[in-house]
Amino acid sequence: MKRIGKVARRYKFFFLNPYQDVRFSYCPKCASKTKLRKVPLVIQIESQQPMVINKSCRYCPSCDLLIAHRDEVEKQLSSLIGQHQSVESSNIIGIIEKSEWRRNTSESMKTTEIFDGLYVFKQVLRFEPSTWIKLNVQWKGIES
Ligand SMILES: [Zn+2]
Repeated sequence: MKRIGKVARRYKFFFLNPYQDVRFSYCPKCASKTKLRKVPLVIQIESQQPMVINKSCRYCPSCDLLIAHRDEVEKQLSSLIGQHQSVESSNIIGIIEKSEWRRNTSESMKTTEIFDGLYVFKQVLRFEPSTWIKLNVQWKGIES
């Protein structure tokens, strides 16, 4: 099967944060301070049509790591479709360039438009806490 989507020029790495009490203002990989970035995420649940939500994410420029908080993604998606929807990292299939997204804000994007503008992540990462030192947490990557 042909791979859908180009590999992202930016945001090569992605992490869906499952920890509601951690907001990753520091990068779990290099411990630098992360920035806030609003990025249109493309979400596909099972065989349904893909949807795009413009989501505030955390971003570490040195690791090129984009972090979205799962509870916030679920909340935004659920209000869009009008029912609760749980989201796994496999459901977030990539991002749309901001310019593409702006062009389409007046109406919802068609599936073909979404796939045409889709950038996929090079790798989806997962982290779990390795040591908790009071409020300072050291994170380690999980091999998947
Ligand atoms: Zn980093």
